[in-house]
Amino acid sequence: MNVESKIRKLEIETRAYIGGQYVCSSDGGTIKKFSSYTGEELPAVSACTSDDVNKAVEIAKEAYKSGDWRSKTLTERKNCILKLADLMEEHIEELALLDTFETNRAFHNYYYDSLPKAIETLRYTAECADKYYDKCMPPQENAFSYITRIPLGVVALITPWNDPMVVDAWKYGPALLMGNSVLMKPAEQSSLSLIRLAELTKEAGIPDGVFNVLPGFGEVTGRALGLHNDVKGIFFTGSSDIGKAILSYSAGSNMKHVGLECGGKSPMIISKNCKDIPRAAKILAENMFYNQGQICSAPSRVIANKSIYDEFMDALYMECEKFVPGNPFDTDNNVGCVVSREQYNRIINYIETAKKDKADIYRAKTIKEKNANACCVQPTIISNVDNHATVSKEEIFGPVATILQYDTIEEAINIANDTKYGLAGAVFTDDLNEAYYAANRIEAGLVHVNSWGEDQNITPFGGIKESGIGKDRSMYALDEYSQLKTVWITF
Ligand code: ADP
Repeated sequence: MNVESKIRKLEIETRAYIGGQYVCSSDGGTIKKFSSYTGEELPAVSACTSDDVNKAVEIAKEAYKSGDWRSKTLTERKNCILKLADLMEEHIEELALLDTFETNRAFHNYYYDSLPKAIETLRYTAECADKYYDKCMPPQENAFSYITRIPLGVVALITPWNDPMVVDAWKYGPALLMGNSVLMKPAEQSSLSLIRLAELTKEAGIPDGVFNVLPGFGEVTGRALGLHNDVKGIFFTGSSDIGKAILSYSAGSNMKHVGLECGGKSPMIISKNCKDIPRAAKILAENMFYNQGQICSAPSRVIANKSIYDEFMDALYMECEKFVPGNPFDTDNNVGCVVSREQYNRIINYIETAKKDKADIYRAKTIKEKNANACCVQPTIISNVDNHATVSKEEIFGPVATILQYDTIEEAINIANDTKYGLAGAVFTDDLNEAYYAANRIEAGLVHVNSWGEDQNITPFGGIKESGIGKDRSMYALDEYSQLKTVWITF
């Protein structure tokens, strides 16, 4: 079924949401962009100026001071977040349509995977409310001390376009639960679903001024948020270069708390001791070619043992035919297009670079999309390169896997760690000693053994090295959006 006509029936809100109402940006500026599937011009979303940021921070600060949100009981805050999850579920089709319309990732992905995951994240986070305890020191005759967590105050949350509703929920869920007022800055490519969600937060009982959405350009809106002295925390998902800029904003203003989830070039080691090579190839393809490879934790650097290399490659060539891109609005398609023409050109340039490096390049043979304007990239497998080639080092953020070869497990670990990134990693082996050895040595915030991407809300997500600082998800995320305070009482 094609759901494209449904988007034409929606009344699409494109303005910022500040203090509980939709407003245009102060200078009337908007973000102009075009669909990467049809080429048509998309609705122009407000581009917030630094004046808008100043106004929104003032409103969020007042909302914080008033205590209307942070002084609610934990059960009240929990119930509001649960209500928001229910409302998202009620509006799941509309939210999935908005994200598909702007990003051209498959509707199927948003409807059946991303939105349910975002809803589940909110429910998990809400349920943490009354299970998260403060600490107190052991009893002492004349004194008592407790160590509590307090909110940061006004926090800015800057999010990317590759999975908007999920990454947003990872951040505003715990930020709200801990009592903060939030200023959300969605990516230029994907603002509509969050703008719509803002209205649902009101319906869920979240007071005006506590949840604000400021769409706009990163270097204007994002920068102004980062440098504002009354913003006490900034949390970001995106590229490592912008992650570093966020650190500099904190240093150049008020030492605000910083949380960063940045890029990756994640290694997947396939050992000769892996008994089910076709399964490993299947898991690689599912996680590498899903969403046209626009996933920060995609296993983009495969390190395969020489003795199983041919068997693995044959299985992989077959698997990649299952992830061929097509019309994102067709519910039979599990893969849509890449997000923009610019992103498309970037990915193709990387493939051209690999050609110049004399690498072997395999591209999926099945063709689903015939429209030449559609920014579709065929699943691509690059081999016969070493770990120093550009395509082995840089994050491509497209459906392009680089395959390297190794002899010994020590060599595989060295290749795996020879990167500035440290987001995710995996080893596929049926030798328990080898699994333990590799899991301990792979430098990544998340290591899988014989799997990929099956981690859940209960486990933290976030990288080490230049893949980031701090964690999304799990109860550890609540620590990120709060700070420790000690109270010492002398009797
Ligand atoms: P990508 O390369 O995946 O598009 P970016 O790191 O450029 O990722 O963008 C991620 C988010 O960071 C987006 O919301 C974007 O608007 C924002 N952003 C981009 N540049 C800046 C900047 N200079 N300061 C603050 N935020 C920025």
